[in-house]
Amino acid sequence: MKAESISTPRIVACPRCGAPVPWAPQSRWRPFCSERCKLIDLGDWATERYRIPGVESPDPGDDGGDTPPPLRDD
Ligand SMILES: [Zn+2]
Repeated sequence: MKAESISTPRIVACPRCGAPVPWAPQSRWRPFCSERCKLIDLGDWATERYRIPGVESPDPGDDGGDTPPPLRDD
């Protein structure tokens, strides 16, 4: 194993502002760039400003046994 593989941390983009964040122990708020961005993001979730597309509850009322096949990850 070469030492350089661990000397350069992976860079990720802050989900809030897109700032580059080194994926390293010193990046305390990763994947966010700062505590501010993390708190803002969590606040958005708490107030349900985010809507996840495609996540809908299946209709439990129609229990006719016609269950669609599960998604397969081939
Ligand atoms: Zn940020």
